[in-house]
This record gives sequence, structure tokens and C-alpha cells, in this order.
Amino acid sequence: MTLRENVPLSSLTTFRIGGAARYVVTCESVEDIQNAIALAHDRVLPWYVLGGGSNVLAPDEGFNGMLLQIAIPGMEFIEEEDAVRVVVGAGESWDSFVREVATRGLWGVENLAGIPGSVGASPVQNIGAYGAEVSTTIESVQVLDTKDGSQRTYTNKECFFEYRDSVFKKDASLIITQVTFILSRIAIPTISYADITARRDAGATLTTPNEIGDVVREIRAEKFPDLKKEGTAGSFFENPTITAEHFASLREKYPELPGYPSAKGVKVSLAWILDKTLELRGYTKGSVRLFERQPLVLVAMIGAHESEVDALAQEVTSRVYEATNILIEREVRSLRK
Ligand code: NAP
Repeated sequence: MTLRENVPLSSLTTFRIGGAARYVVTCESVEDIQNAIALAHDRVLPWYVLGGGSNVLAPDEGFNGMLLQIAIPGMEFIEEEDAVRVVVGAGESWDSFVREVATRGLWGVENLAGIPGSVGASPVQNIGAYGAEVSTTIESVQVLDTKDGSQRTYTNKECFFEYRDSVFKKDASLIITQVTFILSRIAIPTISYADITARRDAGATLTTPNEIGDVVREIRAEKFPDLKKEGTAGSFFENPTITAEHFASLREKYPELPGYPSAKGVKVSLAWILDKTLELRGYTKGSVRLFERQPLVLVAMIGAHESEVDALAQEVTSRVYEATNILIEREVRSLRK
């Protein structure tokens, strides 16, 4: 366990915003996490699991508490008949894991290539992209329950996975320490999304998990700002799901609004609404703006403040509501809650 004091949150988050965190503890084992939490209790400080900092907006005044970075390593492969069970430490990088399994010819997570963050963060919001969701590949999740210090294994069913949601998102006292995946040796390419079919139509070969993963990384890179020059936490808002009736009424107003039926209604593209109905692509206020190539992505210039991001996000939320009656929700988490 390593403990650092007064670490700028701007150096720990991809938004590159935020004052100092009082303590940052890097935990390489379950025991490290237990010791860190005991220390936070002793000092009567709140604690928070930070991960890669790629989905967090931090306060300008900093965080008077303890941030836990879960760095538990490990990747074990257990051969089954047509599948391979992979037991992975929560601290492994998500994209390194995707590359490793794709290189071994294993299918299931290739469409999730290029997502920032750690393996341990992947079940929390049930990461998904281009028609794939991590929940379909997870057999179980090992957690430390900080309410009573117990360690337990959540089966896939007990994780209550839903669209960008799980039991872990609702209960922050559960810290994920290990994830067990079941990945297939049998080819299951999912290439139905327009961004991917466009690449195939332009000549890309999409026959192996690595080929698909590389194409997905290319698509994502095009929609993402250069992190060396400015800060961002990727998509700032969730793509909303609305009722079929609501969608039908919006279609009268916006006949080209794309909608995709889902279990809970119709998923709509927020990027399309921001771009085509509100013309907010590239919309700038002071040091923050909606990214030109993907307006769902909020970009902050170096030195921007949390309050500026908040103000722009609130304005966007109001304008979307006025135009569509949709109350959009933030995907990016706040360190204030
Ligand atoms: P996009 O591909 O323009 O899609 C916008 C919305 O339309 C999403 O809700 C997406 O559903 C839905 N959609 C698009 N094509 C679809 C199809 N062929 N079938 C069913 N639904 C379809 O979105 P984007 O903002 O550029 O993002 C690209 C991908 O990355 C999307 O899959 C998006 O969800 C994903 N993403 C995930 C996260 C996360 O896990 N936290 C964050 C950012 C982006 P889905 O959401 O079900 O794909």
C-alpha cells in the first residue's frame, strides 16, 4: 500500500480539473484496501474508490478525504471446452485485458475495446458499446463488502445488471476486487452498428476479435479529444431511453431522429439531438465546450473549473428538455456525492 498526501485531483482525473485530495492510497491487495479503510475510519474521513479517474468531475476545492486506487493485479486463464474462464484482478487496465484476450482469439469483449479505466470498474456501470455489454461475459464478481469487512462472490444474476447499471453502482460500500469472465472460442462478431458497418463497407476486414477491437479503437479515437492538450471524461451524459409514445411525438417534430427499441422503451441518440436539433456541436462557454466531432463529449481546456463544466452541463440539460421534454442524466460521476 502506498499513501500520498495532498495530490491534485487534476493529475488523477482525465478532466484535469479539481483541487487537492487529502490522501490517495494505492491498494495492491484486499488487505491493502482493508488497511486503507481502517485508516480512513481512524481519521474520520470519507473515502471513495477513484479508479482511472476517467469518469469523474472533481471539485475545485478538492476532496478532504481518502481516495482509493485499486491496483490489484493478475490475469489467469482456465481452459473449458469451447470457452475460456479468465480471472482478472480489478486493477488491470480494461483495454490491456481486451487486447490480451483478443490476441488469444477469445470473443466477447472486442466491441468494448478502447474504453478507458480498469477491469474492476467495468461491471459498475455495465460498460457497453457498439451492441455489446460486459455483463454478457461476466460469470461472477468478487467484492469486499466494507459494511462488515466480508469478502463474497456475486454471481452474474446477483449483480443485477441492467443498461449501464448494476448493484455496484447503487451500493458504493461494495469494492470490486476481481472479475471472472467467460469468453468464447467460437466467433460471435457483432458488427451491426453504423460506425462499424461503415468501416466494413470501406474495406476493413472484421473476422477476428483483434480486427474488430482495432476498428473500434479507431472509431473511438476519432470521437475523442487529444488528452495531451485538453481534459474530458468522455460522454458526459447518458443516451436517454424514452417511451414509445414520447418517441412517436418527437418523430412528428424531428422525422429523422434515430431511435432503437430496447427493453425499457426507445433509446435515442443524444449526440443527434445536440447536433441536429440544437446545433450545439462545438458550442463553447469560456473554457469548456461540446466536442466538435461528438457533442456528447464535454471538453475542458487546461485550467478550467468545475463550476464552468457544471454551468455548461446545466444549460445543455435545460435546452434538451425545452426542445424534447427529455430529462437527460449525467454519466460522469461527481466527487461531491
Ligand atoms: P451512437 O453509436 O451514436 O449511439 C447512440 C445511441 O443509439 C445509443 O444509445 C446506442 O445504444 C443507440 N444505437 C445506435 N446504433 C444502434 C443499433 N444499431 N442498435 C441498437 N442501438 C443503437 O453512440 P455514441 O455516443 O457515438 O457511442 C458509441 C457507443 O459507445 C455506443 O454504443 C454507446 O452506448 C457507447 N458508449 C458507452 C459508454 C459507457 O458504457 N459508459 C459511454 C459512452 C459511449 P447503446 O448505448 O445500447 O449502444
